[in-house]
Amino acid sequence: MTALPVFNRLTVIGCGLIGSSLVRAARASGAAGHITVSDASETVLDRVRELGIADVVDADLAKAVAEADLVIFATPVLAVGEVMASVAPYLKPGTTISDVGSVKASVSEAMQAAAPAGVHIIPGHPIAGTEQSGPDAGFAELFQDRWTILTPLAARTDDAYALAVARLSSFWRVMGAQVELMDERHHDLVLAVTSHLPHLIAYNIVGTAADLEEVTRAEVMKYSAGGFRDFTRIAASDPTMWRDIFVANREAVLDVLGRFTEDLQALSRAIRWGEAEKLHELFTRTREIRRGVIALGQESAEPNFGRDRGKH
Ligand code: NAP
Repeated sequence: MTALPVFNRLTVIGCGLIGSSLVRAARASGAAGHITVSDASETVLDRVRELGIADVVDADLAKAVAEADLVIFATPVLAVGEVMASVAPYLKPGTTISDVGSVKASVSEAMQAAAPAGVHIIPGHPIAGTEQSGPDAGFAELFQDRWTILTPLAARTDDAYALAVARLSSFWRVMGAQVELMDERHHDLVLAVTSHLPHLIAYNIVGTAADLEEVTRAEVMKYSAGGFRDFTRIAASDPTMWRDIFVANREAVLDVLGRFTEDLQALSRAIRWGEAEKLHELFTRTREIRRGVIALGQESAEPNFGRDRGKH
């Protein structure tokens, strides 16, 4: 059993979907004793005050981090380096610094470049989310039974750092997540396949459909019951967040995109030459993958993929 709270004083900077879910989950589970929130947006800060989900809400970053023993950045990924630089002079030695960004290698580099000596930087990424943004969209159960990947710094082999990694892992587990440690570049490649490329495809297909001259925009919306509707859900994801992800994970995304384009060419050839067996074989294999995802508990076979769970 982990002794609670795992961290006495948590500060979350950026209180949108993920930040506010973190704050709610940390409070509901007892993983953090005292919670401070900061954000660049006054509107967000006012809303967090109204929601009453944090103990202290402070626009002043210096004050927000001064007492913290865990600071988590939950801003869009390209803002993390800048926020780290702003808080660096005010951090206590021994503080654990983490984030929730969807890209790890470049974010980790940006954090390290701006960090003061004596803190423990442990980048992280909860593989959980929705297409919503803002503090109202968050909920305490978001991380339940989902994976959180931590990408500890390879250069830090000291005991104090190992202890901080173990403690941060406990923090996530207490909030219901499963934790995996991973090399940051491997994380970026895995997520390029499982998340970034699917989003790119969704943005592209919805954009293509919207631009087709022979099909009116009204028809696209009216007859969107098929596969297109699911793509529109993904393509409704936050534009700032996803702009940052593609800029920050350029290499891995281009790598996977190259492979995807080759496979798409092969598919288009199979369709052209009426290679029905080839198509059937691929669609059978992909169906198995879907079943595997459900069997691993990472998705539901319920209608709407069970996404309404935990939102009531
Ligand atoms: P979000 O709902 O838009 O929240 C981000 C918050 O950070 C907003 O309140 C934003 O304020 C604030 N912010 C932006 N720049 C800031 C700065 N320089 N200093 C302080 N606050 C700042 O986004 P989100 O979906 O929670 O995503 C946050 C992070 O989680 C991203 O790094 C993303 O990659 C990662 N993530 C997202 C998901 C997902 O499904 N959404 C899943 C896993 C991880 P404004 O509204 O004024 O910009």
